[in-house]
Amino acid sequence: MLTFLGRGSAFTDEHNSAFFVENDELVLIDCAMSSFEKLNDMNMTLYKHIYVLVTHTHGDHVSGLGMLIDLMQFSVKTPITIVAPSKEVEKDLKYLISNIEGCADPWYGLTTADELKKDWLICSIPTFHTEQLVGKCYGYYLNVNGTKVVYTGDTNTIEPFEKYIEEGTYAYIEISAYRSPVHLYCVDMHDKIAEYTAKGAHVYLMHMDDEDRIEAVLKDTGAQLAPLIQGGLALADISKLLSDIFAITDSLYKDTCMNRNKDHQKLFKYITELGKTIVDADRASFWKWDKRRNQLWTMSSTDLDKIVIPDTTGLVGKALRTKHIVVTNDPYSDPDFNRDVDLQSGYKTKSVLVLPVANINGEFIGALQLINKHNSEGFDEIEDAKKLSLAALVCGIALESETFLEDSHHDRLTGLKNRMGFYYDFGKKYKDYLLAGSGKKMSLFICDIDKFKRVNDTYGHNAGDDVLRFTSQLIESFCSDNDGVYRWGGEEFVMIMRDTELEAAVKKAEEIRVKLMGSEINADGTVIKCTMSFGCALFDPFKTIEENISIADERLYTAKDTGRNKVCWE
Ligand code: GH3
Ligand code: MG
Ligand code: MG
Repeated sequence: MLTFLGRGSAFTDEHNSAFFVENDELVLIDCAMSSFEKLNDMNMTLYKHIYVLVTHTHGDHVSGLGMLIDLMQFSVKTPITIVAPSKEVEKDLKYLISNIEGCADPWYGLTTADELKKDWLICSIPTFHTEQLVGKCYGYYLNVNGTKVVYTGDTNTIEPFEKYIEEGTYAYIEISAYRSPVHLYCVDMHDKIAEYTAKGAHVYLMHMDDEDRIEAVLKDTGAQLAPLIQGGLALADISKLLSDIFAITDSLYKDTCMNRNKDHQKLFKYITELGKTIVDADRASFWKWDKRRNQLWTMSSTDLDKIVIPDTTGLVGKALRTKHIVVTNDPYSDPDFNRDVDLQSGYKTKSVLVLPVANINGEFIGALQLINKHNSEGFDEIEDAKKLSLAALVCGIALESETFLEDSHHDRLTGLKNRMGFYYDFGKKYKDYLLAGSGKKMSLFICDIDKFKRVNDTYGHNAGDDVLRFTSQLIESFCSDNDGVYRWGGEEFVMIMRDTELEAAVKKAEEIRVKLMGSEINADGTVIKCTMSFGCALFDPFKTIEENISIADERLYTAKDTGRNKVCWE
């Protein structure tokens, strides 16, 4: 339930203080200077609000409060509220924080446990500790993520807490290795603690002056030492991070199952977001290396529009050229850093990590770029790259799959989309026009080069290929944003024209026909001329795609049968 920044008493290096996270709130119980130092190493930007529940005003419990308020005010900028267990303690805290620590009122909130309305705080529990704190020392009764928690704070009696310790309760009990009038002595507490655990309470020991001795005395009671945070990243941070990561992968999974567009774009977007979350960066982008055009494309970016740059520039280019991870925490002194984006947008890049990603054959095909790691000097080439490895791997596979899909939709010779691309586009781009009754008009034509076999037979296959390339480019040059052109088969092409009436489609076909007729084609060294025949049709939403194409095809036959080099639409 609770994680401890330290579980020692005033006589140890790490003073007793615990915390838990509920929703996006970090709730600390007390904050000595040794606890503050640990918080300062944690990623405090993860939380929307920080609360500190104070038990009493001894230095080993509150000496870090002023520094924590300063940290929030001047660096982290997360709102912080100090919660006093009573009105009287609130007054003392006010004096301490403002008159002694020098924190101004707007830098923090100060309230009492009674006034604070939070589901996780049930009440403060008055208890007894030292003489000068009579009426000013408290423990807490909490509801942490749905579980009842008793926290004794410093106390010389367990009596005020006993009624709250039930089956299932998490009881954090202070304990001392030595008999004194101000603490609970481990030997005296032995039987009581055994009793609590026997009835099903979970007992954790804290505020200990000598852990080994206490552990030895209480080892058969079922009590455990309070759990300390691990390394630099607190367990709560890790669990928050994991839950963020799982939220992204869960959405990704669900979207992949439901996405009828069957588009890689969303996948790239999620992976980019995942990378950004994993290493806590400000920006992330995912790049594709178009080796044929020597360009780098952003497939997805958390903050930029799609951009295309030559593959010889920038840190992404460097990572792909060198086939190595690129890390710079001082980009402006790296000659490969491209500062144009910063110059245009006013953004300041401070740290960059680029992971080149490979396909299943180990060929580099893209890169994952992370910019500006939060709360640190910058990226760590080993640690951050390790954390990103899975995202980079998924990136590589996703990019490869996207490339396969793209390739399978295109014809190598002409660069036009092929019949598979046609059916794919039909499901996506033209689906509105397929709905009977939508009232939207769409036209199409199918065209075929006349006597093309003769070109091959006379000038050779290479010349035939040149004619196909030329004709494709010519048709494509007539293609507007509303249109799509496809290589339907050998020397046959289909053009789909959205928001286009039949007359306009016929006109366009006619223009292409005339243009081709007047063109001189350089076919494998010989200049030749060609013509084409066309069949046009208005798309009929009551018919299937195949039926629509075959209507146009019949008209193409009519054109062929009646002399070729013409456009038919009836
Ligand atoms: P028509 O006017 O009736 O259309 O006559 P055609 O000769 O154009 O028609 P046919 O269907 O008899 O011949 C088409 C030729 O196109 C046959 C085939 O070898 C050729 N062809 C198909 N694909 C390619 C290609 O990719 N490259 C080359 N060079 N030729 C191709
Ligand atoms: Mg032909
Ligand atoms: Mg043909």
